[in-house]
Amino acid sequence: MTSNAIEWDHSYDFVIVGTGVAAMVAAITAHDLGASTLLIEKSPQYGGSSAMSGGGLWVPNNHKMEAEGFEDSYEEALTYMKGTVGEEVSELRMRSYLTNAPKIVQYLCQQVGIGLNLVPDYADYYQDIPGSKEGGRTLEAAPFDARQLDEEEFLQMRQTAPQELILNRISMNIPEAQSALTHSPGWIQKMAGRMFEYLSDIPWRFKSKRDRRCAMGNALIGSLRLALKRRDIPLWLNTQAKQLIMENGHVLGLTAVQGGKGIQIKGIKGVLFAAGGFDNSGAMRDKYLPKPTLPEWSCGNPFSTGDAITMGLEAGAALEMMDEAWWGPTVVVPGEERARMLVIEKSLPGGVMVNKQGQRFVKETAAYNDIVKAMYASHSEASPCVPAYLIFDANFRKKYPVGPLLPGAQQPDWAVSAKIKELFIKRADSLDELAELLGIDAAGLTHTVKQMNDYARSGVDPVFNRGENAFDQFYGDKSVTPNPCLGPIVQSPFYGFEVYPGELGTKGGLKVDEYARVLTESGECIPGLYAAGNCSAPVMGRSYPGAGSTLGPAATFGFVAANNAIEGELF
Ligand SMILES: Cc1cc2nc3c(=O)[nH]c(=O)nc-3n(C[C@H](O)[C@H](O)[C@H](O)COP(=O)(O)OP(=O)(O)OC[C@H]3O[C@@H](n4cnc5c(N)ncnc54)[C@H](O)[C@@H]3O)c2cc1C
Repeated sequence: MTSNAIEWDHSYDFVIVGTGVAAMVAAITAHDLGASTLLIEKSPQYGGSSAMSGGGLWVPNNHKMEAEGFEDSYEEALTYMKGTVGEEVSELRMRSYLTNAPKIVQYLCQQVGIGLNLVPDYADYYQDIPGSKEGGRTLEAAPFDARQLDEEEFLQMRQTAPQELILNRISMNIPEAQSALTHSPGWIQKMAGRMFEYLSDIPWRFKSKRDRRCAMGNALIGSLRLALKRRDIPLWLNTQAKQLIMENGHVLGLTAVQGGKGIQIKGIKGVLFAAGGFDNSGAMRDKYLPKPTLPEWSCGNPFSTGDAITMGLEAGAALEMMDEAWWGPTVVVPGEERARMLVIEKSLPGGVMVNKQGQRFVKETAAYNDIVKAMYASHSEASPCVPAYLIFDANFRKKYPVGPLLPGAQQPDWAVSAKIKELFIKRADSLDELAELLGIDAAGLTHTVKQMNDYARSGVDPVFNRGENAFDQFYGDKSVTPNPCLGPIVQSPFYGFEVYPGELGTKGGLKVDEYARVLTESGECIPGLYAAGNCSAPVMGRSYPGAGSTLGPAATFGFVAANNAIEGELF
């Protein structure tokens, strides 16, 4: 839309589309720089995928590392980023990230009052790349007490994904989840403590199943929501951005739909798109992502339908890396709105991932991004790898939670719903029978399982080196020797289910520079337009260097965009 005489319904210095981490951090930053700021959100709930997430932020050389005895430096981090991300992303953008990410962490902790803790042993995902660290670069939000928000504000926050909750309701932070899933010493006491805390929140227990001790993404978004509230920054729900308003190539504001009515909002110093990816747009997935692909395989916010990418394209923006996503193997659980990602289960001893031929195709303990890349790389009509299958035995089932199931010791098969048994997990007395139920080649599966049993005895996987390094072992079972990621698959009944090439959100989007300014195909800035988070092309390129590689940049480039729009600040 181009117009000389626009009748604005509202006017703010900085208008932000979205309410995830990128949006909220940008709003707080812009406000603290003296700008009037508005956030709009198209759904009835704020927080997007950020609220659903694990809430981890990958920030090399952050100030907490030094305080806790971890060594890191800008140079080491740059070496590692260049080694993982490669040359498709400009060094300037990587430098902008590595300069500003530690600043934003310090700003959030020291000036905004957000609690962030190190996850000490969360290792970088590529241990063999120079500059990698065995821990310290991943931060997570400290648990957040939702009583600091009013009831309505709390319930308007999008809920954490079920995979991050005990019994779909009780929150865990990253160390608690790791401890429960890998059975590290003290896990039972930790879980019992969490359950007790949840149950004793009376009378709230009679009102809602939601846990007011928020963790992971809900802790991050809850504490950012509180910071917005304390600053009186308006956040409008049910308000969908529809189109940019431009004049002579400059973005002046946007039109949005609110309560069925069109409104025009002026962004005096700029508009920031922080509206997430296109996870739930079947048409955009078909157009851009590798095949096969389905929205149902995504874990992301159902309202991520690529709106900002579409609006940016209309305004003349270029797109980058539209075939990429924050990949991860997912399972589709009947009755759940979004898919669950297999972050931990794939690394535990006594399981194996195979294709339709019953053959392994990847190191199961590899970064989740790489599992899906391997799935697509090995997929063909002659030898399908979509879906793949996670296979395990009765010992594994008894000991570990897997997908929506609690460990068999707590939830035996008779206590599993008929729907899950019918539509999700297959069980059989022999591997041959299981192969038939899943449609896998029986001879191939038997051969693979025999090999895995040999590897479990020796502790060495000569094909993929499963369990070889600190990252592999982060999700291994430390009580299992000689290799915490390798265990025998021997005890009947045997189990398996389908695994899809899913993601935590799509990755490609509007081309941006090191200040988060949106660029045209010829590399010119579109004045007044910024993008951060999953609607912008990723500073991480096609890689996933460590836990928190998507929220770290979302927060950082929200901060950078606000600084540039309000102050024109250089880093
Ligand atoms: C289960 C799960 C676990 C994850 N764990 C981690 C993790 O630990 N660490 C990590 O780094 N990443 C993690 N991720 C990925 C991460 O959550 C996302 O990549 C990130 O939240 C994207 O942030 P964003 O700000 O770009 O978008 P979002 O947080 O999705 O926010 C975008 C918002 O914009 C709104 N919106 C969309 N279109 C419009 C419109 N037209 N008008 C107004 N509003 C609009 C959406 O409804 C949404 O609320 C996880 C994701 C999931 C699903």
